[in-house]
Amino acid sequence: MKRVFSGVKPTGHLTLGNYLGAMRRWSTVDQHRADSLFCVVDLHALTVEHDPGRVRRLSHQAATLLLAAGLDPQVCTVFVQSHVDEHARLSYLLECVATDGEMRRMIQYKEKASAERDRGGSVRLSLLTYPVLMAADILAYGTDEVPVGDDQAQHVELTRDLAVRFNQRYGHTFVVPRATHPEVAARVMNLQEPTSKMGKSDDVGPGIVYLLDEPAVVRKKIMRAVTDSGQDVEYDREARPGVSNLLEILAACEGGNPEALAGVYESYGSLKKDTAEAVVELLRPVQQRHKELCADPAYVEGVLRDGAARAREMARPTVDGAYRAIGL
Ligand code: ADP
Repeated sequence: MKRVFSGVKPTGHLTLGNYLGAMRRWSTVDQHRADSLFCVVDLHALTVEHDPGRVRRLSHQAATLLLAAGLDPQVCTVFVQSHVDEHARLSYLLECVATDGEMRRMIQYKEKASAERDRGGSVRLSLLTYPVLMAADILAYGTDEVPVGDDQAQHVELTRDLAVRFNQRYGHTFVVPRATHPEVAARVMNLQEPTSKMGKSDDVGPGIVYLLDEPAVVRKKIMRAVTDSGQDVEYDREARPGVSNLLEILAACEGGNPEALAGVYESYGSLKKDTAEAVVELLRPVQQRHKELCADPAYVEGVLRDGAARAREMARPTVDGAYRAIGL
């Protein structure tokens, strides 16, 4: 059986982008066809300005939402990264095969480092080494596939490079994983700035739909989405990013294809209205289940405790094997 690993960062409230780009497939497809692990990667949240108490709360909230989105702890492993020491143990070894040049080339590093500097802050070393820890997250489990949105493609590519390099230098130790992306909505864009990704770490804004937004809020955000000049509903991500983003979201919700949907609509207004309703319906069961789970925080804690114990058992042989391969 294939091994699948993926994760979310508790840097903010989870968004429609996280759900359509990753979480929905984890629950509907991946957990049923593979031996899969889904992780709240809290150590990654420490790479940028953070309030420790908030990271803890957001980690619990993210785990609750993963379960609300349909991850079933009977068939997959749900856990928090910092509960399993093997990630940090392996990350150090991988830092010894990675180079600073390849880290500095990472697009997310460049974007986040410059945002941090613009805010007058300093750039943490961990922001630079973040992709190495991510590689450790993936390689520790002998992962075959990493289902992610396409913003993570470059990091998974780096993970592959590090695995191959380590194997060549020290002998076969790691499975070389590959990224998988959804066919539609692999990159959901901000509704107000459709040329940038809908990212949860951005400030709360009208361009981001959060999974826990009330239906009225979802409707308002989508109805006020920026559209492009021109009247026709056309699918063209370059020339018509706003309308194309709505078409992708609608197609992802309804299972269609954005080009075909473009032909169905004659006005931006009706496209927005249908997209808003489709998103409200998509989120309804997740929000309902989230409410139930919130009434039982001890259940979520128990799932995370069991998940960490299972994950530790799975990671230890690979990480011990990596130390042995080096001769330590
Ligand atoms: P964020 O950018 O929201 O902090 P994470 O790094 O926690 O995202 O990503 C969790 C998963 O959600 C990853 O697989 C990532 O590729 C996916 N994802 C995040 N934002 C989007 C988006 N706007 N569209 C599609 N997928 C996304």
